[in-house]
Amino acid sequence: MTCEEIRRLCHEAHDGELPGGLPEPARAHIASCASCRELSDDLEALTKALRALSRVPLPPDALDAVWRETIHAERSGLSGLARPWRLAAAAVLATALSTGTLYYVLAPAPPPQPSAVELARASAQAEMVLGYTARALAATRNATADRVLASKVSPAVRGTSTTHPSRRP
Ligand SMILES: [Zn+2]
Repeated sequence: MTCEEIRRLCHEAHDGELPGGLPEPARAHIASCASCRELSDDLEALTKALRALSRVPLPPDALDAVWRETIHAERSGLSGLARPWRLAAAAVLATALSTGTLYYVLAPAPPPQPSAVELARASAQAEMVLGYTARALAATRNATADRVLASKVSPAVRGTSTTHPSRRP
């Protein structure tokens, strides 16, 4: 399998589109390919960070905005929903928006030649998610950055090592 195929499978797995998880050949590739392993790790970290966001109370006006621009727009036949259901549906929708899609839009090198429709949809989803979670993200951004730094950058490089080697001559 090529790295390109592996990357696609990683996105699909994190989108929940692979009920059985990654197939064995893909796991084996990731185990032996640093580049694909990094993508897999990054997607895992992103997924965990976004899951953590769901515990942060979201501002009601943001929920209303999401509702207005998504479910409400397609709601023609569902006029009987009570407000709590609306909020729950909006929250579920935001949670269900794929982290893979978000990564897809933010990644510096997107897969070759997605269709215009796919790009527009991914962009719209990412914009909505980003707006929806902006405030919550601010609360957890520092903690997430610290976790990533801690796992990927050595203390000596960060300059935060607690065991400063002697600087004296
Ligand atoms: Zn690879």
